[in-house]
Amino acid sequence: MNTLTSLSLAGARDALRSRKVSAAELARAHIAAMEKARGLNAFVTETPDLALDQARESDARLAKGEGGAMEGIPIAIKDLFCTKGVRTTASSRILESFVPPYESTVGANLRRAGAVTLGKTAMDEFAMGSSTTTSAFGPVESPWKRRAGANDRLVPGGSSGGSAAAVAARLAIGATGTDTGGSIRQPASFCGIVGMKPTYGRCSRWGIVAFASSLDQAGPMTRSVRDAAIMLGAMAGYDPKDSTSAPLPVPDFEAALTGDVRGLKIGVPKEYRPDGLAAEIGALWDKGIDLLKRAGAEPVEISLPHTKYALPTYYIVAPAEASSNLARYDGVRFGLRVPGQNLEEMYANTRAAGFGAEVRRRILIGTYVLSAGYYDAYYAKAQRVRALIARDFTEAFRKVDAILTPTAPSAAFAIGANQEDPVTMWLNDVFTVPTNLAGLPAISLPAGLSSEGLPLGLHIIGRPFDEETVLRTAEVLERALDFRAAPPGVEA
Ligand code: GLN
Repeated sequence: MNTLTSLSLAGARDALRSRKVSAAELARAHIAAMEKARGLNAFVTETPDLALDQARESDARLAKGEGGAMEGIPIAIKDLFCTKGVRTTASSRILESFVPPYESTVGANLRRAGAVTLGKTAMDEFAMGSSTTTSAFGPVESPWKRRAGANDRLVPGGSSGGSAAAVAARLAIGATGTDTGGSIRQPASFCGIVGMKPTYGRCSRWGIVAFASSLDQAGPMTRSVRDAAIMLGAMAGYDPKDSTSAPLPVPDFEAALTGDVRGLKIGVPKEYRPDGLAAEIGALWDKGIDLLKRAGAEPVEISLPHTKYALPTYYIVAPAEASSNLARYDGVRFGLRVPGQNLEEMYANTRAAGFGAEVRRRILIGTYVLSAGYYDAYYAKAQRVRALIARDFTEAFRKVDAILTPTAPSAAFAIGANQEDPVTMWLNDVFTVPTNLAGLPAISLPAGLSSEGLPLGLHIIGRPFDEETVLRTAEVLERALDFRAAPPGVEA
């Protein structure tokens, strides 16, 4: 059992193709692991019967020598992706009983590639958060523990925390995530796995519950860079149903993993080393720079001068778009309805009962910054600053091919910590948010353990639609770092 759940995606693919294992065996091993790990609360909805049906179909295709890039690979789907006939909640009460009549494009692409879907993973409500503690269905627990015998329950990061916990705990070989300000990369860093946010427009947003439409991107969460390359290839592609989807062919991302970064210029932004940066994170970053240098790349100091405005800009733009996107949950079209004396009261009752505190906070902020008297002062200004942040990257990429930074300013924290003040929680995204504002591709890979024995990630950012350089650099760094740690009780 254990060995089947510890296979990499690439390893499972090869074992399936050579018929050393069957898709049904692989699905059963993961379903058993999911049942054993229910205490983590990683899944909102498990779909074991569906997975077994899909696995049988995969086995039939594999027996004929057919099958796609993900044929027979058991994966988990973040509960933000609409799944036809399977409840999709966005971890919100307001969508608690919503069963979509359609499949997201990314989900359909994965199914077409042969992926087997185990269930829907928990997340921060409507993807707003960095800890997966705002889910209406209770917090997700990370499979990791602090070394020093402390048995605090730790957050997996967020918002794609259920996906990250599931992949780290070997409940799924890969999982989908979405990243609006860091929600794939920060939980990947906290859980010791790989998470990639591709370029805005690389994966279709169609059928993904919208948070902030100009920032949201789907991406893969896996246990290796190669696995991320394979899964991204299956997820990506132009989609006429999403007007912001890029009409570009999908490269062979796995073929981009040449193992060669000689001559590559790696930018090291000085603004990402603030005074208060934790020493162990600074040291890990230095190690990453050194390892890439030894592999033949050339580190170059760069400046991204508007970095300090990224978080305030994000926390205007994202809530503004969210307040508009979430207006549709009015008790009429989807999910929950709480009756009232008249239509307006029904709207108010439904929204008051359906949305949690963080979502309400974002709607209030968003409505405020878009209101007539404040639009220019906040929203229009934030859009201008956003353009400056994006320009910093354009300038930097004249001199370098990729940028290396830490993924997050800390390791995982305890469930319940950082809750007193929302701004403390928002600081988690300080290194990831700028790339969403600029629409760039970026990956987090596990790089080492903190003094408490918890995973820490490094983060590589690339030029628009140059996922290939990001993946190539990440794979070289992954090899050099040789991170092998796994959560306690989990076979690596
Ligand atoms: N933590 C950020 C937020 O709460 C980012 C979330 C995300 O990327 N979906 O907005």
